[in-house]
Amino acid sequence: MASAPPAPRAIPPLPFASPDQPDARLQAFLEQASAQLCAWLGSAASRSPLPGLSVLPCIEPQRLGLSDEVLLADLQLVMDGAFSPSHPGALAHLDPPPLPASIAADLICAGLNNNLLAEELSPSLSRLERSLAAWLAEQLGLGKGAGGVAASGGSLSNLMALVTARQAAGLGCRGDAVVVCSADAHVSLAKALTVMGLPPQALVRVPTGPEGGLDPGRLQVQLERLAAGGVPVIAVVATAGTTVRGAVDPLKPIAALCRRYGHWLHVDGAIGAVFALSPRHRHRVAGLEEADSVTVNPQKLLGITKTSSLLLLARPQALELAFGTGLPYMEPSWGGAHGGEQGLQGTRPAEILKLWLGLRQLGHEGIEAVLDGAIQRRRELQALLAAIPELTLLGGQLHLLAFTLREGSGAAAEDWSQRTRQALLDQQLMLSRPLHGGRYHLKAVLGNPHTRSEHLRRISGVVAESVRCQAGAPWP
Ligand SMILES: *Cc1c(COP(=O)(O)O)cnc(C)c1O
Repeated sequence: MASAPPAPRAIPPLPFASPDQPDARLQAFLEQASAQLCAWLGSAASRSPLPGLSVLPCIEPQRLGLSDEVLLADLQLVMDGAFSPSHPGALAHLDPPPLPASIAADLICAGLNNNLLAEELSPSLSRLERSLAAWLAEQLGLGKGAGGVAASGGSLSNLMALVTARQAAGLGCRGDAVVVCSADAHVSLAKALTVMGLPPQALVRVPTGPEGGLDPGRLQVQLERLAAGGVPVIAVVATAGTTVRGAVDPLKPIAALCRRYGHWLHVDGAIGAVFALSPRHRHRVAGLEEADSVTVNPQKLLGITKTSSLLLLARPQALELAFGTGLPYMEPSWGGAHGGEQGLQGTRPAEILKLWLGLRQLGHEGIEAVLDGAIQRRRELQALLAAIPELTLLGGQLHLLAFTLREGSGAAAEDWSQRTRQALLDQQLMLSRPLHGGRYHLKAVLGNPHTRSEHLRRISGVVAESVRCQAGAPWP
């Protein structure tokens, strides 16, 4: 039945940028937002890394769209309550200050609003991702033809690695398959198994040795036991840089065992793999080049803005086997493969842009300087804390250092760790308080390039004082 079309309703002007000429309003908006960001970054040292309670702006949209002025004021409220990774005392986690090129690239990425799902939605950026992933994989020693895909975080990279390994081994339908890793492997592996429909006991944890790395002798016993029982193994996961102490599993002997038993070796190098980018530091993760797949998180030390993670593989074709769908509603890819066929994510921003520009801003020397500085600061803090006999230190090859009271009950260690963290925070020094091996520790991550010797000395001073207080002197 024919009816008259509805009368057109007047549409108010919308705030999209003009496609006809440079948009003056957009430009002013970005300039003002940039000025606020620069002011925030440039005043980080005068605020605590962890702000006190923050004010939340109004949450819901109003009937009419708000002016740029109001929007910028709202943004400022959120900024004022944000954690400050640029504060020199921000040493709690793997969250360094952002690189300027990376910030700018993130902005451009948003402005381009391309989609890594498919080539026609991101032609040059898809190529950039493939090329940079291949270059990084080669730098890590994964060989000719190696490559991979960017992912929004290391948890996702690890999940994709395990799904890919399972598919490559033809174990997609086996509910009894297991993943073998060290007792100190990252929690994201447990999440990955949940997503993969496997029970918690499918994560077989091998004890670590005294240095915090997976013990290859015990790994061999475990692999032998699994083989004898006919239990299918999806992958062995070695960790290059454990989350609490930065230990690196002995990758070469683990790789040899994987070859012998025919297992996929995934290296979770979310923390440590970037050390392979420097000839001077590569030895810290020796054996990385023998992996089938590697997770690397440039967001954790190099200052690439979040998120920046990649899954790199010696044979990247395995990704398409695991994740390819044929993308029936897209033109075929002309450059290799659609991003959406290489991983779990569909629509995805070009996170590669800020990695590419950030690495080029640093240069090889800059990358090395970031790594050098982190290792030096860890050594310096380690030397300072080693002079406090009441402490046990847990370090490794990288830039993390955990410590706790050598003696006393778990409850005493917990109490001490809480009080000491607060005493440090009172001096704008932020450490974290991980529970490791059933005992609370304090942990410093020394990747912040703004941290100087004076901060490290202040940390050791506060800690020495807290140890005295724990032993009976009054807490301040
Ligand atoms: C941080 C981390 C992950 C997870 O990375 P996200 O980016 O936080 O998802 C995985 N493994 C290790 C060893 C990590 O330190």
